[in-house]
Amino acid sequence: MPWLGLGVFKVEDGVSVSEVVKSAIAAGYRSIDTAMVYRNEAGVGQGIRESGVPRDQLFITTKVWNADQGYESTLKAFEDSMERLGLDDLDLYLVHWPVKGKYVETWRALVELYQRGRVRAIGVSNFQIHHLEDVIRDSGVVPMVNQIEYHPHLSQKPLLEFCKRNGIQPEAWSPLAQGRLTDHPALADIGSKYGKTPSQVILRWDLQHGVVTIPKSVRPERQKENAEIFDFELSADDMAAIDALNLDQRIGPDPDNFNF
Ligand code: NDP
Repeated sequence: MPWLGLGVFKVEDGVSVSEVVKSAIAAGYRSIDTAMVYRNEAGVGQGIRESGVPRDQLFITTKVWNADQGYESTLKAFEDSMERLGLDDLDLYLVHWPVKGKYVETWRALVELYQRGRVRAIGVSNFQIHHLEDVIRDSGVVPMVNQIEYHPHLSQKPLLEFCKRNGIQPEAWSPLAQGRLTDHPALADIGSKYGKTPSQVILRWDLQHGVVTIPKSVRPERQKENAEIFDFELSADDMAAIDALNLDQRIGPDPDNFNF
């Protein structure tokens, strides 16, 4: 799984998302994160096909939406996503949210898809420790990935430690807090030491914490900026200074209390 991917939440389907996907692939991205509910899987598939990069060099993620959860309905939702993407196989399929009363059987369907060889990796998103424990207890299969809200204002240390102890790869959604941290003064100060922007500092902090990151940008110059994070290393002091910015503050819904 690549350490860096492109998120496409809120990017409009059709020409718009296919151009965004193509410019990211041209900039060196090899991983794209979409979801049924983003309603842009078809355009993502088109961008992949037109990118000129062979399918087997790309890592494509999509997710089963809440309304489709349940065993049979998830198996069907998977095939519908594949049809829209126009792909024969998928790299990573995720349970988008832990819908109460549904997520355990949804996870069983993902295990079935994995055993049938329809998908190379299966995981979850927005799962707290107790949700992870539930699916592991029920199926005996540990999710390979947990995609969670993660940025310097929400570092979720206990969840991250649980994931690492259990061999679950954490992945950061809204790593830039949807753009709210891209001109943070403390991050700008740290960045100035390395000739890097606040966004690059945040994304590098993700990597050094062993967290896969998927920033979204529709602008080629920002896609390029967000990808230039493999040529410097934050010092232990700077990592600690960024850790200290944590406020346990979500910008998205609380996985223990959502109603969609
Ligand atoms: P991000 O934290 O990636 O921030 C995106 C915002 O930051 C956009 O407004 C973008 O604007 C701006 N931006 C990007 N790069 C820069 C930069 N270098 N400098 C300044 N501004 C910048 O937010 P997302 O919520 O999109 O999260 C990323 C991805 O995570 C999503 O696209 C989606 O794939 C996934 N996700 C998953 C969720 C889940 O429940 N599993 C929930 C939410 C997101 P512009 O595009 O104009 O450049």
